Amino acid sequence: MNCILCHRQISLQLKFYELFLLSYQKNQICDTCQKNFYKISENHCPLCWKEGTNDICQNCKDWEKLGVSVNHQAIFQYNSAMKEFFSNYKFMGDYHLRHVFAPYFRAQKQNKGFTIVPIPISEKRLQERGFNQITAFLDAAAIPFQNLLAKNDTVKQSSLNREERLAGKNTFKLVEGVIIPQKVLLIDDIYTTGATLQRAVKILKDAGAQEIKSFSLCR
Ligand SMILES: [Zn+2]
Ligand SMILES: [Zn+2]
Repeated sequence: MNCILCHRQISLQLKFYELFLLSYQKNQICDTCQKNFYKISENHCPLCWKEGTNDICQNCKDWEKLGVSVNHQAIFQYNSAMKEFFSNYKFMGDYHLRHVFAPYFRAQKQNKGFTIVPIPISEKRLQERGFNQITAFLDAAAIPFQNLLAKNDTVKQSSLNREERLAGKNTFKLVEGVIIPQKVLLIDDIYTTGATLQRAVKILKDAGAQEIKSFSLCR
């Protein structure tokens, strides 16, 4: 069997019962590749999991000033190995790579009572790429989710500043006819400023969601 990322052979001495896990293991990565991904340490912002501080980070303080609360968790640092992974996955459209981090998405099932809602991508991106990288992760993890949000393609995000982005000009909209659950766990791939998630939070809160938290693979 070969590593899904570097394609080098992974040597495995399987016990009998492990043969049953083979279909799962064929999507594994080797130890060398695994070591290139850095997990966020204990030393992280308690609100957004930014690495390197136990205090509330400046980014979260900026959100608080705007009256916005952050309730986020992440697993990995967005380092160069992760950037390369996402470049192959998203931009080269390597759909098979959705399996690599499936266990981390599967673990989100622990959030009992929360409806899992992926951040949508635009119709244009979907056509270019052929898949939504976030729902593909969730599919690989065989975890149920609901598409409550759609991209509002008439609003150009890059033209808006932080305040404008919060104040109504939302790049997301609700999918028509959906019922908004009380508790929502938003799923994204990479958390950078949190702006994307906060737009999704706002639209869901306005629609009646009571408790919203979020998860991304990287921060
Ligand atoms: Zn490898
Ligand atoms: Zn923070």
